[in-house]
Amino acid sequence: MRVAVVSDIHSNLHALEAVLAAIDAEPPDELWCLGDIVGYGPRPNECCAAIAERADVCLAGNHDLAVRGAIDLAEFGGEAGVAARWTREVLEPEAQEFLHGSARDPVWEYVLSDQVAFVTIALANVPLVLVGHSHVALQIVLANDEVEGGVAPAGTEVELDGVQALLNPGAVGQPRDNDPRAAYLLLDLDSWRASFRRVEYDVARTQREMRDAGLPELLAARLELGL
Ligand code: ZN
Repeated sequence: MRVAVVSDIHSNLHALEAVLAAIDAEPPDELWCLGDIVGYGPRPNECCAAIAERADVCLAGNHDLAVRGAIDLAEFGGEAGVAARWTREVLEPEAQEFLHGSARDPVWEYVLSDQVAFVTIALANVPLVLVGHSHVALQIVLANDEVEGGVAPAGTEVELDGVQALLNPGAVGQPRDNDPRAAYLLLDLDSWRASFRRVEYDVARTQREMRDAGLPELLAARLELGL
């Protein structure tokens, strides 16, 4: 089975559409979403609709939980809080229903760091753990009691056969690893290989929509830098 994995879309519709188009060029069997569909960006309703239509599995991220009221917005400082409040106001009933009903609550995905999650997989003895949240594409492999890996730039290929691995696909809609292109991950669960991909999208268009919506300038400016 081939699976495309996306995470941290953050209401960036143009980034999501670019990723979905790239995925469709070689359609996988399933699409999995690790959460944070909304927050920060200007198009929450359209991103929820696209993920509701396309994803076979969808976790709820901390921004999704905040917008639907499951996390106190007081926990969101600065620009994240401003954007979460704006998202609450503009979120339409269908998108609210999707975030409430279909996006599954994570057990620990959003509360722990990648390092703690990695210890968790080592203890849990599962072959593969997928996490989002940090907006940094990451591959960490545990083989013969040795830990290897780190940041996973575009084109990184990981052999998963016979090892335990923790992978973060990076962010579709707000990358923070100095590469502003939208990130996603392809998994081949027959040959046990993972492939980290990046795709260009119209950053300026998303930035314009954010400025038009009155979202914080810092959130718009960071998109072109991948920070
Ligand atoms: Zn996020």
